[in-house]
Amino acid sequence: MPDNSEPVTGAPPALSERRLSLAPEIGDTVKTTTCYMCACRCGIRVHLKDGAVKYIEGNPDHPVNKGVLCAKGAAGIMQHNSPARLTKPLKRVGPRGSGEFEEIDWDEALSIAAGWLGDIRRDDPRRLAFFTGRDQSQAMTAWWAAKFGTPNYAAHGGFCSVNMAAAGLYSIGGSFWEFGEPDWEHTRYFMMFGVAEDHDSNPIKMGLGKLKRRPGVKYVSVNPVRTGYAAIADEWIGIRPGSDGLFVMALARELLRTERVDWGYLGRYTNAPWLVIDDPGAADHGLFARDERGRPLCFDAASGGLANALSVDAKPKLAGEYRLADGRRAVPSFQLVAERILDSAHSPEEAARQCDVSADTIRRIAAELAEAAFENEVELDIPWVDWAGRRHDKMIGRPVAIHAMRGISAHANGFHTCRNLHILQMLLGSIDCPGGFRYKPPFPKPVPPSQKPAACQGQPERPLDCMPLGFPGGPEDLLHLEDGRPMRIDGAFSWAYPLAIHGMMHTVIRNAALGDPYPIDTLFMFMANMGWNSAMNVADTLKFLTATDPDTGDYKIPHVIYADAYYSETVPYADLVLPDTTYLERWDCISMMDRPICDANGAADAIRQPVVAPDRDVRPFQDVLLDLGARLGLPGMIDDDGAPQFPGGYRDYLVHHERAPEIGPLAGWRGAKGDQHGFGAPNPDQLQRYIDNGCFWRQELEPRQRYYKFANFDYLEHAYSMGWIPSVDQIVLQLYCETLQKFRNAAAAGLADAHDAARIIARFDPLPLWYPPGDATPDAGGRGFSLHAVTQRPAHMYHSWGSQNAWLRQITSANRLYMQRDKAAEMGLEDDETVWIVSRKGRIKGRIRLMDGVNPNTVWTWNAIGKRAGAWGLDAGAPEATMGFLLNQIIPEQMAGEDGRYAFADPVTGQAAWYDLMVRLEKCTPGGRFDDVIAHPPLKARPGGAARPARLRFGADLKGRDSSGKVAPDIIPWLGGSGPEKSP
Ligand code: SF4
Repeated sequence: MPDNSEPVTGAPPALSERRLSLAPEIGDTVKTTTCYMCACRCGIRVHLKDGAVKYIEGNPDHPVNKGVLCAKGAAGIMQHNSPARLTKPLKRVGPRGSGEFEEIDWDEALSIAAGWLGDIRRDDPRRLAFFTGRDQSQAMTAWWAAKFGTPNYAAHGGFCSVNMAAAGLYSIGGSFWEFGEPDWEHTRYFMMFGVAEDHDSNPIKMGLGKLKRRPGVKYVSVNPVRTGYAAIADEWIGIRPGSDGLFVMALARELLRTERVDWGYLGRYTNAPWLVIDDPGAADHGLFARDERGRPLCFDAASGGLANALSVDAKPKLAGEYRLADGRRAVPSFQLVAERILDSAHSPEEAARQCDVSADTIRRIAAELAEAAFENEVELDIPWVDWAGRRHDKMIGRPVAIHAMRGISAHANGFHTCRNLHILQMLLGSIDCPGGFRYKPPFPKPVPPSQKPAACQGQPERPLDCMPLGFPGGPEDLLHLEDGRPMRIDGAFSWAYPLAIHGMMHTVIRNAALGDPYPIDTLFMFMANMGWNSAMNVADTLKFLTATDPDTGDYKIPHVIYADAYYSETVPYADLVLPDTTYLERWDCISMMDRPICDANGAADAIRQPVVAPDRDVRPFQDVLLDLGARLGLPGMIDDDGAPQFPGGYRDYLVHHERAPEIGPLAGWRGAKGDQHGFGAPNPDQLQRYIDNGCFWRQELEPRQRYYKFANFDYLEHAYSMGWIPSVDQIVLQLYCETLQKFRNAAAAGLADAHDAARIIARFDPLPLWYPPGDATPDAGGRGFSLHAVTQRPAHMYHSWGSQNAWLRQITSANRLYMQRDKAAEMGLEDDETVWIVSRKGRIKGRIRLMDGVNPNTVWTWNAIGKRAGAWGLDAGAPEATMGFLLNQIIPEQMAGEDGRYAFADPVTGQAAWYDLMVRLEKCTPGGRFDDVIAHPPLKARPGGAARPARLRFGADLKGRDSSGKVAPDIIPWLGGSGPEKSP
């Protein structure tokens, strides 16, 4: 046990003996800001005493959490006081990975960084790879990369849940993630798929609370594991990992078979009636038939001929076979979609075989969905006007809502699984209607969004023409060099991963070390633990980080710069470390240009303000980035005289930066008088206005704007006026995804090489699709892997940040391998037994814990608990390092076969497929071979740190004050330390 785990002896006093003050004087000052203990971005009130943080509570006025605070948010105090905090810039003096550093001052650190980056920029800006982690300032970091001139930029999304974003944006112009939400007030049937707890964490908790209070509402959790929010579901469907897409297609098949779909919704709001050209071999096969003005065609039952499918007068047919003017055959896209779904491969019986869900259950759930949607319509007495000017007296909705996130996303079939969910919603007519899934502004966007990824041939000192990441609309938007190699170091937007709209951070280190597609000079990372739990196949990742040229002895990746607030496992692999502040010590921006805090009824953004000053020699990363930008003379970061454009750092940037005239990072209180919102000149008092308002801005939508946003004239006009969408045109939901077919046609025409073409033809299917996930390739000995191995997110932790937090570690400090009780008995395994968890990449040890609520073909563990000894300021003997394990160690980083040509990722988006891990369990024989354990030597202790306290505790000065101010010593005796692991 670590030093800080000293057990508390003696029983706590009985409650009746305690003299609790229910309204204690906690501090002398309260400041509002925004939590950063997970991605949810709740408003918090930080109580300070003598300038020090004493207590954090939820801000009851904040639109995200309305005062609710989770365990992580409250434990922000220990994040702020963490012994893992870096304290000063560091320069590597020993071999990379040794953890041997010397402390340097900021001038030297910035001079070194500017020297490396300046050389790169004068030569070939692509030789900088800039990748960030759970960065909440991506609008700024992406802009910086664009001004530097490197396309090699991305954040964490490609590793996390890009399938969710891409499938949504290419189907309905929005997505679940945190960019949409169920209509908690009106839904009657709520389905949540997979791990989905951490984005929109508190709003989902509050929403589930609302559902539970309303009689007649059903909540169904589809998840291999019954934990987290699944634990309170009315029905748990313990599905086999990666089979959700088939389950959804089987539900859709039942709805079609019983004709329980919303025909009117499909005809009005989706491309179901649009005619698809059927001319195999032609360049436009599978594309929509269009008139001379490019408008899609349908067959109009009223006129008996072809018509503009967007015309309000047309009475489009959804099925049939028609002739185009040139004599070719065309059919409505709905017919193709329906034929695909109705295929016997998607029958309940076939799905039952592969999903571990009975055919009867599938039929019942489909019937329940139909009943909720069609026999429980929600009617709101709110008149509204549609995109064509037609007035509707009521808003009528199908009260079925779905939510999903990483669980279904992190598979090699995740894009299509996410798309299938949206197709199911379209069939039910439940997208952005009362009771259904709802967009949060600024969504929906046109499908796909118009922003393209930046092309770059590596011209010296030349910024990109647009942002590095974007949305390819067809093969013409892919990024290849003139010789056909991918333009980006991560391979995103190449034929191998065409729709990698969030980049592919998981391929960067390997590709950079191998010089594939070209060598780089500097890997610059920000809060991305890419040497540990943001990596697959950790051992090889670390080898790539330290690989040297055999002839010169130089590192294959010559320079590594890492910026973080904490001593993570990746820090020792950096040559230069730029220490960041904690979230309570900085200005920050939760921007409408990035990932704002909107809800379905309103637009909102927020700031963080520094509530305390750093007590270490650290700087906010965004300040550092702007400083570097000015030193490098990057456009937009220096003025006409070459002086820094934002001498006040990020604070200055937040107020004065304009991405386009009168559009800046913050939407609220713009203009000289601070009375404009969305647009307006910079307002020097803007940040104070945010602070005065609790550090957020919110603009409520009118009731008539709140639903059917894709076709609601008042909403579309408002969104256009705010700059969220380029026109007031209706946003047509894409039941059939023509963009995918464009890639397919190009691949069939020979534009891609044979390997890539085969993948694209198979996977870029415009129709609903499911194919088996998994990585069941036998090992060298011919032994197979029959168990799916997945992770779940503890509600009380967020990535490796949370699992080093002294308070949160008391809840979980070592993970177990959970498996189904009967399955374990069948395999002769027992509770608490230590086993080898074996994949085709190697094996690690884990201790079994038996449970009932897990799919029998699945084992699972908590995410990001296992730590490398010596990291994160923990004692080398901490349970996280001695008893915890990290599943990432045995996740392959490459697909089997094809000579390791492809990343272990979804072929459509490049999403890391770490939920496709397949394993087998082997008994650990005492005295047997242990030499292939993937064990990493302990890291050296954090440089420059004060000695770690023997017992880490906080709040002793608060304990025991009763309402009269007298000391009552035993009220809070449990602070600090780590406790035993709890079962779910
Ligand atoms: S849900 Fe996330 S952002 Fe909200 S209080 Fe908890 S940790 Fe903070």
